[in-house]
Amino acid sequence: MKQMRAIVTGGAGFIGSHIVDALMQDKRFEEVIVIDNLSSGAYENIMHWENDERFHFARMDLTNIDEIAGIFKNVDVVFHFAAESSVKIGSEYPEKMWRCNVVATFNVLEAMRLNNVKNIVYASSSTVYGDQVKIPTPEEAILQPISMYGASKLAGEALILGYANTFKMRGLILRYANITGPRMRRGVVYDFVVKLLKNPNELEILGDGTQRKSYLHVSDAVSATMFLFDKFLNASSRFEIYNVGNIDWITVKEIADIVSEVLGVHPEYKFTGGVESGRGWIGDVKLMLLDISKLRSKGWQPTMNSHEAVRQSAKEVYKEVKDKI
Ligand code: NAD
Repeated sequence: MKQMRAIVTGGAGFIGSHIVDALMQDKRFEEVIVIDNLSSGAYENIMHWENDERFHFARMDLTNIDEIAGIFKNVDVVFHFAAESSVKIGSEYPEKMWRCNVVATFNVLEAMRLNNVKNIVYASSSTVYGDQVKIPTPEEAILQPISMYGASKLAGEALILGYANTFKMRGLILRYANITGPRMRRGVVYDFVVKLLKNPNELEILGDGTQRKSYLHVSDAVSATMFLFDKFLNASSRFEIYNVGNIDWITVKEIADIVSEVLGVHPEYKFTGGVESGRGWIGDVKLMLLDISKLRSKGWQPTMNSHEAVRQSAKEVYKEVKDKI
């Protein structure tokens, strides 16, 4: 069995820390190095590995290539999960999307090229599709992001294809739907849990509540990621692109109902109305369901549908934050 050395960028964040757990539990990985500047992630998410000699943490900023380049020596694969992942922040600070998502991805690829690292797994996003008519949306759809965040994730994909083809590197690009579960500190489920802990009688809902999207529990997202990574390792293709999502979708109003039920409260809903016919915020894609038939055809299935994933993560997040609010 070939031993591998991996870097996880953004490994102290929500999804990245669960990827770190999967790699640390996989004995093929002789070393797992987390690079994170802790801008939105938390060291507590990975602290449980600090006494394992296979684990290393580098508090570094990916926007500084001189700082990070040396760490990539003798690495086999980079799981690139660091990003500024808030659509809302992109409409307020577009330069942040450029720096944290585009420049950082360029720097990761440069550090890989300079150190002859061949494989990258990239956390892309359903937001690269924008508003689509064809739903569920397949990988072949024309990519038309409607947010600075979506644009920056698409730029990252483009850079990976450029590097893969120019420098004989290999890229596995995963377009995740909305991911939900323990350790998340943003997104609608977290937002509703926190608001209801503060005031169980009233719940502010951004938009008109009819936004309908697909949610995948983080345990399923990680299982799909490792499943596709194993297939990719044994394939000869230079790059592959997969949608990683669920079989169904759920409205924001239904999420509010589930979270309220989990917390045992009966709030009055206050819809903000949102922007542009009920979007929650500028750049919010109102309808998102990815076509995951390519992923399913390889033999992977989610264990929870969107409704189950939301319910499960509401319970998990409630448990994590109930004594902190
Ligand atoms: P997150 O904010 O929890 O994690 C991102 C991590 O990257 C954080 O730990 C942060 O500190 C780190 N980071 C940010 N900028 C950095 C920099 N310049 N240098 C070093 N570290 C930096 O977000 P997440 O939800 O876990 O998202 C992880 C990845 O998955 C992101 O690339 C995101 O675009 C993508 N994604 C997330 C979702 C979702 O629903 N959460 C959906 C689709 C795609």
